[in-house]
Amino acid sequence: MKKINEIFYSLQGEGAHTGCPSVFVRFSGCNKRCSFCDTQHEVGVLMSEEDIIAEINKYPARWIILTGGEPSMWIDSEFVEHLKKATGKLIAIETNGSLPVPEEIDWVTVSPKCGMEGAGDYPIRVKKADELKVVDVGQDLEQYFTYPCVTFATKMYLQPCYIPDVKENALNTQRTINRILSDPRWTLSLQTHRLLNIP
Ligand code: SF4
Repeated sequence: MKKINEIFYSLQGEGAHTGCPSVFVRFSGCNKRCSFCDTQHEVGVLMSEEDIIAEINKYPARWIILTGGEPSMWIDSEFVEHLKKATGKLIAIETNGSLPVPEEIDWVTVSPKCGMEGAGDYPIRVKKADELKVVDVGQDLEQYFTYPCVTFATKMYLQPCYIPDVKENALNTQRTINRILSDPRWTLSLQTHRLLNIP
């Protein structure tokens, strides 16, 4: 049984797969306590693998996105293989990188929170990242290129930290744009689901 917060069908809002129709499987709970966490992931119900698969198969998406909370707390190779076989879909994960992830996953997005308020310092245990998605809180960005999971092929996304105040949010976004323009190894990621008002 796995504790699931929600399963829903929408467009991926952020990063390399922005706009891709995807089934989101949000696992409950996280091993970090970031002060800026904007996900209500603690509430959840226990679901069997078969129930999870039945819910996923209601939707025509090509991609399943395992998210949370921290999904790597709940999954192993056997689960990922079962999911792939039973749904015929591709599997992506969004992880804080603190735990290893099964090699069978098709797309790994690491969103590191190392050193951020509430998360503490921790080593990245993911072996290979297809994408690194960093929330810009004004931190040193050079550190991310030293992660062992980052290769030349890893897509590096910088995303402004969302601030509810419209004016402050615009200033914050401009700061992120300026950082990217001065270091073109980065690409802008926006939370387009917020702009579109979709889940
Ligand atoms: S790692 Fe992500 S899900 Fe976990 S507390 Fe931090 S922001 Fe929230």
